[in-house]
Amino acid sequence: MSEQIKGPLDLEREVLKRQLCTSCGACVGICPYIKVIKDRVVIIEPCGITEGKCYDICPRTGTNLGALEQMVFGKPVEELALGSLISIEMAQAKDGKVRSAGQYGGLVSALSMYATKTGDVDSFLLTKPFGKDFMPGSVLVNSAPEVLNCARSNYIASPTLAGMNQALKKGKDRLGVVGTPCQVLALRKMQASRFDGIAEKVGLTIGLFCTWALSYRELFQYLKGKLDPALITRLDIPPPPANTLTITTETTEIEIPLDDIREFIKPTCRVCYDMTAELADISVGMVEGIEDWNTLIVRTERGKKFVQKAKKAGVIGTEPLEKARLDHLRDASLQKKKRAVAEITGRTKDVKDLLYLRLRDEVLKELLPKA
Ligand SMILES: Cc1cc2nc3c(=O)[nH]c(=O)nc-3n(C[C@H](O)[C@H](O)[C@H](O)COP(=O)(O)OP(=O)(O)OC[C@H]3O[C@@H](n4cnc5c(N)ncnc54)[C@H](O)[C@@H]3O)c2cc1C
Ligand code: SF4
Ligand code: SF4
Repeated sequence: MSEQIKGPLDLEREVLKRQLCTSCGACVGICPYIKVIKDRVVIIEPCGITEGKCYDICPRTGTNLGALEQMVFGKPVEELALGSLISIEMAQAKDGKVRSAGQYGGLVSALSMYATKTGDVDSFLLTKPFGKDFMPGSVLVNSAPEVLNCARSNYIASPTLAGMNQALKKGKDRLGVVGTPCQVLALRKMQASRFDGIAEKVGLTIGLFCTWALSYRELFQYLKGKLDPALITRLDIPPPPANTLTITTETTEIEIPLDDIREFIKPTCRVCYDMTAELADISVGMVEGIEDWNTLIVRTERGKKFVQKAKKAGVIGTEPLEKARLDHLRDASLQKKKRAVAEITGRTKDVKDLLYLRLRDEVLKELLPKA
């Protein structure tokens, strides 16, 4: 789906060496020469192919967002800040056990559990947030306990789509996927790729809001000086003005100033354009200041049907999202786009070279600082 298809050497030069890799995992497992160690993706040997799927599906190679939006929604995006949407409201899992296991309202867990129960998907690809040595990793689940085992958020970038490649290779049909916006973008590029239509077997995509993710090695080293990262059971970033990361273990809770860990943010997150997973069927994030609710954006007809069914079955409950909160979300999302464009043009010194982003002129004009 990249406008020009190149090969793994180009992927290495244009993405990996420029620190643009998001560690989404999409290129891992589709050829024997690309490996991932924790969240670091490496090409262990150049294969000599000049046109490769790895380049085509990467979310940081030239990406025509308009074409992907057309593929997913059948029309151009109407709203710049939040993308195409059918509805936006607050939602939470009705089951208190799911809510308390989840990061906020447990909505993602409730929806993934329900999808496997109804047969809307055969399995869901989730990310177990705290695996060996505190590293998140993908898990294929099809039962409620397995879903709950993956509840909560780790803010380390996880190569989750490597697990999807593995599952699809094994012939898994009708998969659901939960991922960050860059993972959803890679997934859509796979579905649009001319190489093969294997990701077409993905039936339902739930995107997570995301402002940034952290690099494993740096964060792990930093935390090791304070506690045993293997004992962490929850991470949270309370709303401003807190400006902290709260870390919970089985025995203690500590707070770390966000300013201490900002240097561990993956460099590619600074050029990331999407906060709310605009290409997902359903997007889910927090509601600032309300702990046990989520923001739910329904974007596609598939997402709408599924959410309506879950509501009717009493699996999730919804409430209107206050206008002030919606305005705040719109603003945060728009600011992320503006920051990304400013960072990119600061690097390239050319408003016509947006690295991986291909934006329509009128969209770019909205995002550049007013003269
Ligand atoms: C890196 C990252 C940054 C985020 N930044 C924001 C933000 O800026 N604003 C905001 O509103 N929300 C953000 N979120 C989303 C938020 O943390 C919750 O995941 C979301 O609101 C769903 O809440 P829930 O109660 O439904 O979660 P749960 O029901 O607990 O489900 C959470 C799901 O997250 C998945 N997950 C956990 N860790 C990862 C990971 N590292 N990579 C991919 N998937 C993972 C698991 O598969 C799990 O199913 C971020 C999440 C991640 C992973
Ligand atoms: S496909 Fe994903 S993991 Fe592979 S190089 Fe691109 S961003 Fe990194
Ligand atoms: S900020 Fe963007 S690139 Fe970074 S993890 Fe989130 S979605 Fe991926």
